[in-house]
Amino acid sequence: MTIHVLPEDVVARIAAGEVVERPASVVKELLENAIDAGARTIRVDVNGGGRQLIRITDDGIGIPSQEVRLALARHATSKLRDPEDLYQIRTLGFRGEALASIVAVSRTTIITRHQDEEAGTQIRVEGGEIVSQRAVGAPSGTSITVENLFYNTPARLKFLKGDQAEKRQIATFVTRYAMAYPQLRMILAQDQQEIFRSSGSGNLGDVVVQAFGLAAFREMLEVQSEESLPALRSAIRVHGYVSQPDLHRKDRSRIILFVNGRAVQDTSLTYAVTQAYHTLLMKGRHPMAVLMIEVPPEFVDVNVHPTKAEVRFQDAGAVFAAVQRTVRDAVVMYAQTPSMRAGSRTRFAESRSSSGWVLPYDLPKEDAEERLSQGELGLEVTDPGQHPVHRMQEAEPEADLTQIPKGMGRPARPRTLPLLRVVGQVGAAYIVAEGPAGLYLIDQHAAHERILYEQFMEAYARQETMRQGVLATQVLDLPPIEARLVEEHLDLLNDLGFALEPFGPNSFRINSIPALLADQDPVEVMQSILADLEQARVPGQSDIEARIITHVCKRAAVKAGQILSYAEMQDLIRMLERCQSPHTCPHGRPTMLHMSGDQLAREFGRLGSH
Ligand code: ADP
Ligand code: MG
Repeated sequence: MTIHVLPEDVVARIAAGEVVERPASVVKELLENAIDAGARTIRVDVNGGGRQLIRITDDGIGIPSQEVRLALARHATSKLRDPEDLYQIRTLGFRGEALASIVAVSRTTIITRHQDEEAGTQIRVEGGEIVSQRAVGAPSGTSITVENLFYNTPARLKFLKGDQAEKRQIATFVTRYAMAYPQLRMILAQDQQEIFRSSGSGNLGDVVVQAFGLAAFREMLEVQSEESLPALRSAIRVHGYVSQPDLHRKDRSRIILFVNGRAVQDTSLTYAVTQAYHTLLMKGRHPMAVLMIEVPPEFVDVNVHPTKAEVRFQDAGAVFAAVQRTVRDAVVMYAQTPSMRAGSRTRFAESRSSSGWVLPYDLPKEDAEERLSQGELGLEVTDPGQHPVHRMQEAEPEADLTQIPKGMGRPARPRTLPLLRVVGQVGAAYIVAEGPAGLYLIDQHAAHERILYEQFMEAYARQETMRQGVLATQVLDLPPIEARLVEEHLDLLNDLGFALEPFGPNSFRINSIPALLADQDPVEVMQSILADLEQARVPGQSDIEARIITHVCKRAAVKAGQILSYAEMQDLIRMLERCQSPHTCPHGRPTMLHMSGDQLAREFGRLGSH
């Protein structure tokens, strides 16, 4: 074949393929146009997953009759003029490609009237060819009907996903834009059935309720923050809702991020959100989040990809840090404030009525004591003063399970669990305890891991990591790759209590290890830590740090299979009661199961049976 320039209609179809991948992308582009046009109400109708018909009707500014044809041309836009405009985009569209692309691969009818004009325009286009144009009466605004999508690109048609997948994606787009623009009323009907409607109240919470349901919304925390960007005399603002650690999902699909009102897919920012729940969520579980991130327009490049789903920041690290900190602060504050937990606990307990064991949601202490004194909880509680274990504890609860000296991280921290009384040990692995709210079964290893982890972190934050000198010369010989790993992190390891000294090309002398591990073989400890790091191939410094600390605590914690004395168990519980996040181990697994007095009564058929 000789070289020739492609005919215009072929070029148009190729270009169309990039912007209009699937029916849902048509919905997205037309929605964006309606929003850019200043609409207050936008209605989306879709039939047959969008292949039969997509109609988007808005009450925005409309297109002047003189410009309707132009709007259909490629690279025709009213939103950009000068090249500089590209660096501070305030509209959702700007490439002038969507209408041209859509009309090239469908039969489209546009009815529009500009708000300053008397008459509207109706224009019909088939496969990019204008087949008719006439003046019509129409309300101010625009209605675009796209039928028989991809009728002239059979290859594309063949590779489309099923209608269900398309419907889901369309609903996703509509709800996301409804969240980004809570002041707009958006309605979505599929196959003549209304499936979503936002009120346009301007309140993000209202839209989240519509999108996720009231039950989920109730378990979400509101977040808001602002961090200044002095160089730009501006700020990064983050606001929205994130799930409490008790509400989680198996995938990341409900981590929804917007940058300046544009829904973006950004793996790094999604990771920032997940990271903020570090150690609070089980492996493989993910939080929910709806976060609006606002940055100065010149700080972000949206012109990275034809679908505009990816963005690039001038300083991605700053945005990452702002998002992570905002979410983390809210989650930690929630975990620390008993009164914030009260509401969710009650609902949680209700929703798990007869399933037996549930994760515990402790009563705020005052609340529990008050209800106890009113005899409301229906559980007989032993007077603490009368119980031998309690008396012993009252005397001095500092038995040195942790080998961290007194005064380190143990001043009376607020209690995060109700006062628990040890009943006994089961299978040399679990502690049975009783509290005002019922029965608790505590995993001794997981609980101890959590305690050690928090104590270690506290000491570490104050740069007081306790180390144990290694007297006899202990040399660590490593394969080259692991040796580089150690070399690279010598300082960090030292801060964590592992003082290592180069001792030949791939060898290190171990001068100290963390005091927690005093009774363990230093070489073996180092090898297991390195194996763990290698396996994880963790990216950032803070991850490596957390990973090593978790590993140390895991090694130091009492094991399942270890028989504990009453005093040891009671000590463990006392320390757990004062952990910031007593409900999970640092890996995110639960430390305890809880069965309320009501549940016990129900299980034994004692409720309402008299
Ligand atoms: P872009 O949105 O990138 O500018 P489009 O091809 O999506 O490109 O739209 C081209 C132009 O048509 C827009 O710049 C706008 O002026 C006009 N337009 C499209 N949809 C609407 C609408 N719903 N209401 C008013 N004007 C619209
Ligand atoms: Mg557009």
